[in-house]
Amino acid sequence: MSVAERAARERRLANAAAIVDRCRKCEIGAIRQNAVYGEGDACAALLIVGEGPGETEDRDGRPFIGRAGQLLERMLAAIGLARDDVFIANTVKCRPTFDDGVRLRNRAPTPDEMTNCRPYLDEQIEIVAPRAILALGAPAAKSFLGPKFSITKQRGQWFDGPSGIPIIATFHPAYILRLTGGEVEATKRLVWTDLKALRSRLDAPPSSAARADGAAQGSLFED
Ligand code: SF4
Repeated sequence: MSVAERAARERRLANAAAIVDRCRKCEIGAIRQNAVYGEGDACAALLIVGEGPGETEDRDGRPFIGRAGQLLERMLAAIGLARDDVFIANTVKCRPTFDDGVRLRNRAPTPDEMTNCRPYLDEQIEIVAPRAILALGAPAAKSFLGPKFSITKQRGQWFDGPSGIPIIATFHPAYILRLTGGEVEATKRLVWTDLKALRSRLDAPPSSAARADGAAQGSLFED
């Protein structure tokens, strides 16, 4: 990757982020504190897609910076990746909320919000041109793979994503943090399997990527 190409990608991402900053296509665009465009390496081999910003992300305008973000960083570290090595985005750039009468609470993005915001995500994928996409959680995975996608049955499998970019899904770190008892270790083992498959795919030469298996070395990430 040349210095000029990197600079061009960074410029395009900055321009797109400025457009998102002014976007009010959805009602949540008027309620948000900050748009959360996404961040990371403009030339990343891996692009990560979560569901949407939460309260902390809305406050600071950055994706995955709360407890789930810290766990995501440990998941990445387990396969030898730093946060700065990847590009992190969400299906929607504004925090979806509802008012429970006391305060604004997080909710899942609506289909309309995801549709409205999709061009921004598609543009990010086009600019970064990653070698693989990791979808975190069912909503992010379904936004690429359709409503019938089952995170429990189909996580850890490779699919063709946008422009043929391979995509794999695993459980969202926030979901892992909500688990208790034996479910925690059992789920972490499944996620670790998925992460190893991802590492192998990233390590494989492009021509043999389809044959990559879960042979990565390392140890289970800690929560
Ligand atoms: S969620 Fe996306 S499309 Fe909707 S207002 Fe925010 S930036 Fe615009």
